[in-house]
Amino acid sequence: MGCAAAYYLAKKGRQALVIEKDPGVGLQASGRNGGGVRQHGRKASLPLSMASVRLWATLAEELGSELEYVRTGNIVLAFDEENAASFERDAAWERDQGLEEVQVLSVRECHELVPGMEARVLAGKYCPTDGVANPMLVTPAFARAGLRLGVRFRLNAPVTGLLQQGSRVCGARIGAEEIEAETVINTAGPWASRFSEQVGCPMPIGPGRSQLLVTERFSRQMVHLWVSVRGWGYMRPTCAGNLVLGSAGSRNDEFSSHVDHPRLAMQAERWRQFFPYFKQVNIIRTFAGITEYTPDGDPYIGDVPGVPGYYVAAGFNGEGFCPGPMVGKILADILTGGEPCVSLEPFRTDRLAEGMRRGIAPPPVSYPWDKMFY
Ligand SMILES: Cc1cc2nc3c(=O)[nH]c(=O)nc-3n(C[C@H](O)[C@H](O)[C@H](O)COP(=O)(O)OP(=O)(O)OC[C@H]3O[C@@H](n4cnc5c(N)ncnc54)[C@H](O)[C@@H]3O)c2cc1C
Repeated sequence: MGCAAAYYLAKKGRQALVIEKDPGVGLQASGRNGGGVRQHGRKASLPLSMASVRLWATLAEELGSELEYVRTGNIVLAFDEENAASFERDAAWERDQGLEEVQVLSVRECHELVPGMEARVLAGKYCPTDGVANPMLVTPAFARAGLRLGVRFRLNAPVTGLLQQGSRVCGARIGAEEIEAETVINTAGPWASRFSEQVGCPMPIGPGRSQLLVTERFSRQMVHLWVSVRGWGYMRPTCAGNLVLGSAGSRNDEFSSHVDHPRLAMQAERWRQFFPYFKQVNIIRTFAGITEYTPDGDPYIGDVPGVPGYYVAAGFNGEGFCPGPMVGKILADILTGGEPCVSLEPFRTDRLAEGMRRGIAPPPVSYPWDKMFY
């Protein structure tokens, strides 16, 4: 979000400085995720995802970099009656919202698209315009394109607080150093909440941990599209011929990106149950990343009423890779007086703070993995 916003601001002739605590950009979730550029299955964020997919179509050309973006299609499979029954209803709603290409598939069509699957599958929902990109390429591509337009970067520079004059935010503090700015955008991902608390507008975000397994390359690729098993996880092909297997995020109060091996073994075993041929496949790499869950499942995007000079884009509930470029563009548009291309109303930054100020606690953050097993 940060590098994309800086790039689009520079493109509009604004000066931008990215302040990053790590030694490089894109070393957190944006560079270590499943790479899904997906629309179906979204609720309030469906219009944002659809606008994002339109932007992804020309993004590599725009940034002058290979992103390994491929519209592979995306099938969601149901292995139980409850999920299978929801597909017709969900697809009808999504088509109403303008995602006309979504289809519900028969069991035979599911097996044709996803060979080697255990016979128990009950239904599938398919969107041909969804796809994948390589997360390790995208944030650095924004940074390089930004550099060419004059974006500056401060790395190894943890922001420790915001500078304020009254209610206005006028810069950021890195330890004893003060950096003044006309506008500050908080794109600190799972770490974003503390800065919003400082300005008196709480935006709760619970840190999660999601883990991925990467298989060896297949001599003949079995899976050509993004495959999700509803309520469990997903797999997707890479351009090099591996498969990436992912699962939902669990609670992670320590902000840890260490790999939890017992849980990985459980993930691998479950995939083998759905796809018996995995018994013969080696896993060559595993990694984890920090996801960011909000109490109502929607991100915070936009300005903060009563706090001039301060904008936020954070809390994307493990789904922020797809909308990242578009959110950066939207931030640049609204900062320069333009209108966002989709309504930001569902993502209002003060939607929970209003109640919290009156003593109404938001619902507790729920973590998708923990919901499945505990
Ligand atoms: C394993 C995994 C799989 C996922 N799969 C998908 C997927 O398939 N599709 C999808 O759309 N989304 C997916 N996501 C979610 C997606 O990766 C995130 O929602 C998205 O990358 C969030 O981007 P961001 O810029 O908001 O945050 P981040 O990428 O977390 O970036 C925040 C940045 O802020 C920096 N920072 C934090 N605090 C400070 C500070 N005090 N000072 C300076 N810098 C600071 C961090 O170091 C970091 O670089 C997945 C996430 C994970 C972890």
